[in-house]
Amino acid sequence: MFVRIRKWEKAIPQYTLGYKKVTTLFDQLERQFPGLFFAGNFRRGISIGDSVLSAHETVKEMLQK
Ligand SMILES: Cc1cc2nc3c(=O)[nH]c(=O)nc-3n(C[C@H](O)[C@H](O)[C@H](O)COP(=O)(O)OP(=O)(O)OC[C@H]3O[C@@H](n4cnc5c(N)ncnc54)[C@H](O)[C@@H]3O)c2cc1C
Repeated sequence: MFVRIRKWEKAIPQYTLGYKKVTTLFDQLERQFPGLFFAGNFRRGISIGDSVLSAHETVKEMLQK
């Protein structure tokens, strides 16, 4: 019996340095164009959990407007 472990160092894309500028742009665009909403792994975290949370928060914002 043997075990083989392979570590995929770059399996999940990660935010790079300076990504804050991109997220700030989403905020600006949403303010500039009411009715436009961004949600997904590029917004509030990469994991599935973060993506689900992002969807929930975005729907809440949509319902408030
Ligand atoms: C290899 C890999 C492994 C991962 N492992 C994990 C893990 O173990 N745990 C974890 O928490 N996260 C993991 N993640 C991260 C996580 O799965 C994703 O970040 C998350 O699922 C993203 O959700 P999302 O809804 O933002 O995007 P997606 O799940 O990518 O959904 C976007 C959807 O939009 C659709 N779409 C794209 N363009 C268009 C278009 N023009 N018109 C209509 N539809 C369109 C796509 O078909 C897709 O269905 C992994 C990611 C990868 C790539």
